[in-house]
Amino acid sequence: MKKTNHYINTVFTAQDPILESVISSIEENGMPSISVSPSSGKLLTMLVSISDAKNVLEIGALGGYSGICLVRGFNSKEGKLTSLELEESYAQLAYRNLENAGFGEQVAYRTGAALESLEKLVEENRKFDFFFIDADKENYENYLNYCLKLAAPGALIVADNVLAAGTVVDETIQATRNTEIMKAFNKTVANHPQLESMLIPVGDGLTLSKVNN
Ligand code: SAH
Ligand code: MG
Repeated sequence: MKKTNHYINTVFTAQDPILESVISSIEENGMPSISVSPSSGKLLTMLVSISDAKNVLEIGALGGYSGICLVRGFNSKEGKLTSLELEESYAQLAYRNLENAGFGEQVAYRTGAALESLEKLVEENRKFDFFFIDADKENYENYLNYCLKLAAPGALIVADNVLAAGTVVDETIQATRNTEIMKAFNKTVANHPQLESMLIPVGDGLTLSKVNN
């Protein structure tokens, strides 16, 4: 897996000064190095573009790496990203990074526990055509249920880290607290009556789930 990812990153992703500056800003601020991989980021850009998404909801912003990748996929300036982040200081850094990348007008952050922000979005009757789930893994199933409530017909729900560093497929690697969580989440999206799903083993694994109308 590591070799495969290294190969894909090398051949399919180019030097990217904007994303590299995001990574540096995350390190300088003592934040965790858990942004999506360059190849996952590029795939997010392509998925937003291919699906012609106009309203994206991200759960888990960190420093704005995946946020930039998502916004880059918009086919017009009308595209809007709403991003949920627990930590106020992380959301502020993410906003600065999106602003520096030229996307300040296209993003809105909501801070605090994502479950509370999601409840508010439901009350506001908001709809999204693309979701990216990448926050606390314990809540993935809850986030999925909220995404279904907020989904426009045919929306795409993408979730990150579904391979849990390879532990969901390789018993010789020491399991982590996310192993069983991700195994259960993968089964849920694979068998969900409202979803058609596939797992893409790029980076730490992404599930793609299309919402049936
Ligand atoms: N999507 C980002 C990485 C996100 S890391 C990228 O690839 O660039 C996970 C983020 O989820 C962290 O910033 C963490 O603060 C946030 N998070 C954790 N628990 C959360 C919660 N309950 N509500 C909202 N955000 C949460
Ligand atoms: Mg992730």
